[in-house]
Amino acid sequence: MTERQIAATEAHSAHNYHPLPVVVAAAEGAWMTDVEGHRYLDMLAGYSALNFGHGHPRLIAAAKAQLERVTLTSRAFHHDRFADFCTALAELCGMEMVLPMNTGAEAIETAIKTARKWGYRVKGVPDGRANIVVAADNFHGRTTTIISFSTDPEARADYGPYTPGFTVVPYGDLAAIEAAVDDDTVAVLLEPIQGEAGVLVPPPGYLAGVRRITAERGVLFIADEIQSGLGRTGRTFACEHEGVVPDVYVLGKALGGGVVPVSAVVSSRDVLGVFRPGEHGSTFGGNPLACAVGLEVIAMLATGEYQRRAAELGDHLHHELGSLTGTGTVTAVRGRGLWAGVDIAPALGTGRAVSERLMARGVLAKDTHGSTIRLAPPLVISKEDLDWGLDQLRTVLGV
Ligand code: PLP
Repeated sequence: MTERQIAATEAHSAHNYHPLPVVVAAAEGAWMTDVEGHRYLDMLAGYSALNFGHGHPRLIAAAKAQLERVTLTSRAFHHDRFADFCTALAELCGMEMVLPMNTGAEAIETAIKTARKWGYRVKGVPDGRANIVVAADNFHGRTTTIISFSTDPEARADYGPYTPGFTVVPYGDLAAIEAAVDDDTVAVLLEPIQGEAGVLVPPPGYLAGVRRITAERGVLFIADEIQSGLGRTGRTFACEHEGVVPDVYVLGKALGGGVVPVSAVVSSRDVLGVFRPGEHGSTFGGNPLACAVGLEVIAMLATGEYQRRAAELGDHLHHELGSLTGTGTVTAVRGRGLWAGVDIAPALGTGRAVSERLMARGVLAKDTHGSTIRLAPPLVISKEDLDWGLDQLRTVLGV
């Protein structure tokens, strides 16, 4: 069964991913079951799209109830979930306006368009000159404009000509941002923690520094919280760890509760108010099903329960992982909350090889950048299951 499915996938799907050789058939909470009935602890959580685990009863109930009523209207008409969703999301973010989209990349594209339009209409940047400062090793999605400012050759090569209007500076370097911002700069776009780069946490004071520079220079601070946001780090937003509120949040992944793709740009009226009818849109963005699930996600986050779990279990995770750094098997551990990048010593093989060994022991995690294992279990994981997963990691590392 497994071999047949994998062979058919190899034959008929483009090879833009290199999945672990497991074929999932069902999942619940933090656990997945493959087509042969083997169970695996999910330590990736769909790259944070599954912060609430698989099939959370509240999210499934919200989706089912909406499926019975109305699923899609397009934005040609109002529907009765839209206002509630936008109002609740704006409130969760402490902002005023929401522009819903579907995928993370679409929301980033929307944030780029927002910043450029704001630059021309509000800041007064001469037409065609708007520039956005971004960080090296960023990951903001896969569209042609977004990969134009990627520094990862795998993500970027062969897709030119590239979209101009971006200046790349080293991540974590405030002086570089200060130097890069000029009169044509409309925004600084950053991940508060760089996920795909290996869960890189910037130096203390960095986000607060970016906030100070952008405020002083009249530039928007756009925080891509698509992976870091909505509870993952122990707070609703990773920016909160430095007491920072950006001008624009870009959200995705967990906003759809692991059920449907839901993303959004959230900001003030001054910023998102630049759009007029016909100037931007999406057939599926803000559809009734997406709004119903998103509303339930926001209600769940509003209790603070998931943020607390991520903070408490995250402390435990980092305490346990920290003890591995003295064993010669792990060279570094980074992260915040229930999110960690674990650099494996070269002697143990590649991150891929370690992921495969973890899989054989019933734990699903994924490597990034050769030698890093990324751990991001659903926030609903129990402490016992987390400890069991860590035991498997220790066994695989031979400690
Ligand atoms: N931004 C960040 C920080 C991400 O981690 C991702 C996806 O991994 C994206 C944007 C793109 O999201 P999507 O894959 O939904 O387009």
